[in-house]
Amino acid sequence: MKLQEFAAKQLLVQAGLPVPGWSVATTPQQARTQAEEYFAAGAGRVVIKAQVLVGGRGKAGGVKLAATAAEAEAVASAILGMDIKGITVRRVLVGAAADIVKEFYLAAVLDRAAQRIRIMASAEGGVEIETVAETNPDAIVSVLAHPHLGLLDHQARQIAFAMGLGDRWKEAAGIAKGVFQALIDNDADLVEINPLAIVRTIGPDGSVTEALQALDAKITLDDSALFRHPQLEQLRDLDEEDPVDVEARGLGLSFIRLDGTIGCMVNGAGLAMATMDLVKRAGGEPANFLDIGGGARSDKVAAAMRLILSEPSVRAILVNIFGGIARGDEVARGLIEARAQQTRDVPMVVRIVGTNADLAAAILRDSGTGIEAASSLDAAVERAVALAGVSA
Ligand code: GDP
Ligand code: MN
Repeated sequence: MKLQEFAAKQLLVQAGLPVPGWSVATTPQQARTQAEEYFAAGAGRVVIKAQVLVGGRGKAGGVKLAATAAEAEAVASAILGMDIKGITVRRVLVGAAADIVKEFYLAAVLDRAAQRIRIMASAEGGVEIETVAETNPDAIVSVLAHPHLGLLDHQARQIAFAMGLGDRWKEAAGIAKGVFQALIDNDADLVEINPLAIVRTIGPDGSVTEALQALDAKITLDDSALFRHPQLEQLRDLDEEDPVDVEARGLGLSFIRLDGTIGCMVNGAGLAMATMDLVKRAGGEPANFLDIGGGARSDKVAAAMRLILSEPSVRAILVNIFGGIARGDEVARGLIEARAQQTRDVPMVVRIVGTNADLAAAILRDSGTGIEAASSLDAAVERAVALAGVSA
């Protein structure tokens, strides 16, 4: 689950990281009112930033500065409704504009292969790290931190010095540790600050201070660990999620779209994977992974069928049910119910064994729906592949 910048910044603040204040506006008028407050508090300019889950908003025109409240309203008006890489901007972040002295890159990312948390840093901040990795890989430094031992003092110092922040290494090392902690505390896969910037502030008495601040934040949470953080669920942005994913999650189904033409409905994750292997071996390509779970009731089966058929490339459906807790007759009724609601004529091959398999076969045979019952799993797979026209 990807978090919008304003939500990611909340988590950075909770981890004790320095983040300049912000507010969120959904209308230009609201942005104007918020800008007035920043100006009243002494801001020279305000920054208005599109809140969309893609990188490179700055380049796309989604990050702008404004010197007056009226200008803030106009800028917000231009950004709200803007299309950035196919996503419509519905919200903007508003804050006092930072006076940037220099930009850096700092991130913590789960490195599965290394079984560690990788802390990555660069003095080349502000630009996308992929670009730096291509053009100047030596400008990126990274260390591996053990998830239980944490980012060690010497590692944090190493990061600080490598960023060219030797003169403020304590501050930089503290921030590196905070980024690591934010990842651990929230079970995130990625916590990225780009730019982390040295920001200049001029006090009322004219005194100049400089400090590191997180001006942007990108966090990706591990979906499989979200149950441990129910309070983070409210940070989910449903507007930017695939409606199919939203529906599958609501139904408690594990559903993952793939590129093929054969829709697969299976109970049990292992059986679902084995089924996909068999489809591939028979020369077909699965259109999805779908585990309808144990004890699937007919309404869930019907809903799962809707999800499969929402993908236009599906040309055949293969149902593979091993009836244990799930009863074959219940699944068969669900399939017939789904067939009745089906808006597209897609052939369906069914293999049901186990609990009430005989009853299931009879129900399907008598249904007059044209659903084919296969005598074996191999036969079911062969038939589905043939129906999808792949093996021809
Ligand atoms: P991104 O393009 O989606 O990564 O959005 P960022 O939040 O990183 O903003 C892009 C760029 O806009 C930054 O690298 C900065 O150069 C600039 N920027 C962002 N916030 C401020 C700010 O408060 N003041 C100034 N002067 N520039 C900013
Ligand atoms: Mn950025």
